[in-house]
Amino acid sequence: MDFKSYIRDVPDFPKPGILFKDITPLLQDYRALHSAADNLLKDLEVGGIDKVVGMESRGFIFGPMLADRLEAGFVPIRKPGKLPYKTLSESYDLEYGTDTLEIHVDGIAKGDRILIHDDVLATGGTALATTKLIEKLGGLIIQCNFLIELSFLKGREKIKSHEVKALITY
Ligand code: IMP
Repeated sequence: MDFKSYIRDVPDFPKPGILFKDITPLLQDYRALHSAADNLLKDLEVGGIDKVVGMESRGFIFGPMLADRLEAGFVPIRKPGKLPYKTLSESYDLEYGTDTLEIHVDGIAKGDRILIHDDVLATGGTALATTKLIEKLGGLIIQCNFLIELSFLKGREKIKSHEVKALITY
């Protein structure tokens, strides 16, 4: 399936100068949605993953779909102040300023085998902060998994100590 044909470019969103990759045309089409989830899991086996970790907010779309297929749990990573229980935080640099991500301290147990999923790998800041949170809790990262990789932003280099898989590369 030509997955790229289901991704829409939206210029100047959310800010002028940004060409946003919009995945909603793919989500709207059952065959594309189903096939994308199947293909994201191509190199993974049921029983090989304990938890899928998804980042707010578009990591919450495929994350639980993949977790269900892998017979794994799902753990959300969220922006500060959104998770209700005790959290661990990790800050990371943006082009202008910093951002922070949080995870519930009991989301991952020592030795849990983790699949990270997000919709887009851009500069890799979000993914790197996520790997740090998981490793601080003792999780073992099996793969970092993305629907889209914007390879010209070189995010893969930030997380190069891990296996990285993307379904669509620009
Ligand atoms: P990074 O931290 O620079 O790698 O940015 C990744 C995060 O930004 C992900 O959580 C994405 O959801 C979001 N993101 C960045 N660029 C795009 C885009 O073009 N479309 C959709 N989401 C994007």
